[in-house]
Amino acid sequence: MMDLEHQDVKYLPGVGPKRAKLLADELHVCTLHDLLYYFPYKHIDRTRLYYVHELTADMPYVQIRGQILSFDVEGEGRKRRLVAHFTDGQGIVDLVWFNGIKYVTSAYKTRTDYIVFGRPNAFNGRINIAHPDVEPADSLRLNAMGMQPYYNTTDKMKRAGLNSRSIEHFTATLFESLKSEIPETLPAYLVKSLQMVSLDEALRHIHYPTCAEDLRKASFRLKFEELFYIQLNILRYTRDRRNRYRGNVFTRVGALFHGFYEEKLPFELTGAQKRVIREIRRDMGSGRQMNRLLQGDVGSGKTLVALMSMLIALDNGFQACIMAPTEILAEQHYATFCQMLSGLPVRVELLTGTVKGKRRQGILEGLEQGDVQILVGTHAVLEDTVRFKSLGMVVIDEQHRFGVAQRARLWTKNVRPPHVLVMTATPIPRTLAMTLYGDLDVSVIDELPPGRKPIQTIHQFDNRRESLYRGLRAQLNQGRQAYVVYPLIKESEKMDIKNLEEGYEQLCHDLPEYKISRVHGKMKAAEKEAEMQDFISGKTQILVATTVIEVGVNVPNASVMVIENAERFGLAQLHQLRGRVGRGADQSYCILVTKFQLSADTRKRIQIMTETNDGFEIAEADLKLRGPGDLEGTQQSGVAFSLRLADLARDGQIVQLARNMAESVLDADPNCAAEKNEILWKQLAKLRKTIVDWSAIS
Ligand code: ADP
Ligand code: MG
Repeated sequence: MMDLEHQDVKYLPGVGPKRAKLLADELHVCTLHDLLYYFPYKHIDRTRLYYVHELTADMPYVQIRGQILSFDVEGEGRKRRLVAHFTDGQGIVDLVWFNGIKYVTSAYKTRTDYIVFGRPNAFNGRINIAHPDVEPADSLRLNAMGMQPYYNTTDKMKRAGLNSRSIEHFTATLFESLKSEIPETLPAYLVKSLQMVSLDEALRHIHYPTCAEDLRKASFRLKFEELFYIQLNILRYTRDRRNRYRGNVFTRVGALFHGFYEEKLPFELTGAQKRVIREIRRDMGSGRQMNRLLQGDVGSGKTLVALMSMLIALDNGFQACIMAPTEILAEQHYATFCQMLSGLPVRVELLTGTVKGKRRQGILEGLEQGDVQILVGTHAVLEDTVRFKSLGMVVIDEQHRFGVAQRARLWTKNVRPPHVLVMTATPIPRTLAMTLYGDLDVSVIDELPPGRKPIQTIHQFDNRRESLYRGLRAQLNQGRQAYVVYPLIKESEKMDIKNLEEGYEQLCHDLPEYKISRVHGKMKAAEKEAEMQDFISGKTQILVATTVIEVGVNVPNASVMVIENAERFGLAQLHQLRGRVGRGADQSYCILVTKFQLSADTRKRIQIMTETNDGFEIAEADLKLRGPGDLEGTQQSGVAFSLRLADLARDGQIVQLARNMAESVLDADPNCAAEKNEILWKQLAKLRKTIVDWSAIS
C-alpha cells in the first residue's frame, strides 16, 4: 500500500514539480491523500448518448456521438463564428465556436468519430451547441460513459492550463494506480450497522460514481464520517471535563432569590422562564459544573433569567459576573440590575474599559474581598487584574460576540471553575448549535412575555420619505419613540458616520418638531452615554444610531425601528434590530428602507423579515441563504470551514445521526478501551490537529 499521506503529488504521472506547486499553493493539495480528498463540486451525467433529433433547448448537458461533416466560418466582426455541421447519421446539429477558431479547425477532423458534449441552445429556430467538449470516441477514459466530475480551480491555475479536466486526469490516474484498497477509517461495526459503503468505495465514487445512487451513498458515508468525528471529539471532551471538574454545589435557594422573586419582580415569569430557571437550579445543585447555552428570541426575557441565576450563587456565598459585548449593553444591564435589586443587600458594580483610576481600584479591591457580589462588565472583566474572592457563576450575554477562547479565560477566575451560562442573541438552528456549542447543554425560552403584539414589518424604498415621515409622526405624536439605524461597516467607518450625520441633519430639518439623539461608535463614552440617557429617559424622541444599539438595548416605549440601507444588513442583524421595539403592549413597527434596485438575495431577506417574527425561523432561513461559514459565531469556531462535504444547513439529519452514534459509542466504551474502537482514537488524534481544538477551552 502506498503511503498516501506522505507521498508527494508531484510524482503522480502527469503532475510534475511545476503543477505540484500550483496545486499546493492554490488548493492546498500536497500529497496523494490531499488529492483523494479534493472532491468535485458537481458531476455531469454522461451515462447515456442522445440522438441529435432528440435535442431540445431546455436540456441540460448532453452528449452525442458522430462525425463532423464540414466547417464554415459565418458572420462578421464580433459575430464571426466557426460552425461545424455535425451528424450522428440521423440528424444534423451545428457546433459553434466564437473564438479559438484556428485551434478548433486544426484540432478536429471531419469524418472522424467524436463524442460531443455540451448544452443545446435554440438559435434562429434551430438547435446548436456552443463551445462543446469534443473528444475522440475511442478515448479510454475512466469516466467516458459515467458521471463526469467537475473540480474547482483558480484563475491562476487556469492560466497555467490546469483546469478541472487536468484534475480529473490526476484523480483518474491515482485511482488506476492504487493497488490495494484504501484503508478504512471507521470501525467495521459502525460501517456495517449504518449500511455504509467502505472508505475505498466512497472515495472512488465521490469522484467517479457510475450512477447517481453511487454518488449519494459515497457522499453520505463521507459526510457522516466528518460529522461523526466532530461529535465524538466534542462529546469525549465534554465527558472528560465532567469527570475532571467538580462544580460548586449550590443547594440553597435563599433570602436573595426569594426576596427578589416575592417582592421585587414586577411581573409574573413566563412558563418558559420558570422552566429554564428550574433547569439552571438543577445543574447548579448537581455537583457538576454547569455549562449551559440559553437560547431565546429577542425580547424573551433572558436578562431576568440571568439575574435570578446569579442570585442563587449569591445565596450560596459566591460572587457572580455578567459579561456583555458592548459598553452600552453593560451599562444597561448595570442600570437594570441596580433598579431591580434596590432595597436588597447586594453590591453591584460596573467594570468597563472606561472605568479608571480610583473607582476601578475600589471595584477591584471589592471583588477580591468579596464585597462586590455582582460584577457587570465588558471584555474588561477578562483582564488578569480582575480577581474574585469566590466567583461561582458567570453569564456571557450575546455569545456570538465572544470567541471560545474568551469563554475559557473566565474559567481560570476561580480555583473551581464557575458555572457558566451562555446566552445567545440570535437563535441558532439546533444542528448548528450541536456542532458549534456541542459541549453545552441547551435551554430554550420559546415563549414571549404576554401581551406583546407582533411587530409589523414594512418594506419601503428610500425615495418615499414622505410616507415614512407620516408614519413616524403618527407614532411620535402618541408619545412613542423611534430608532433610526444606519449600517456600520468597519472598513469605512468614516463613510458610515457621514451617512449617519447626513441622515441626522435631514431628520432635524424634516421633523423639526421633535428632539433627536445620536450615537455612534466613534463618540467618547461619556458623550454616548449622555445621548443614550436622553433617549432612555424620554427627553428625546428619536435616536439616530449605528449598529452600536444592535444588541440588548431596552426602551419599551420605543415603537418604531427604521433601518436605513436595510439591504446592507444580514438577516440575523435585522432581526436583532427589530427586536429593539415591540417591548411594550402597543403595536410596534419596523420599517426596512432600501434602495430600489435589489439583488435576489436581498429581496428574499426582506421578504422573510416582512413575513415572520420568529427568530428560529429566521435563523434557519439565514443558514440556508448564507451557509454556515458566514453566520456570526462560526468564524471564531472554524468548524464550518473544516467541513469538506457536510453542510450544517442541509445535513441536519446526518448531524443528528452522527451525534447519536458518537453517544452510543462512548456509552458502550467510555474509556475507549475496546479493540474494535482503536481506529477511532487513532483518527481522532489525527483530526484534532485540523478541527477545532475544543480541549483548549479548559
Ligand atoms: P432579551 O431576551 O432580548 O435579552 P430582555 O431580557 O431584555 O430580553 O427582556 C425584554 C423585556 O421584557 C424587558 O423589558 C423585560 O423587563 C421584559 N420582561 C422580561 N420577562 C418578562 C415577563 N415575564 N413578563 C413581562 N415582561 C418581561
Ligand atoms: Mg438581552
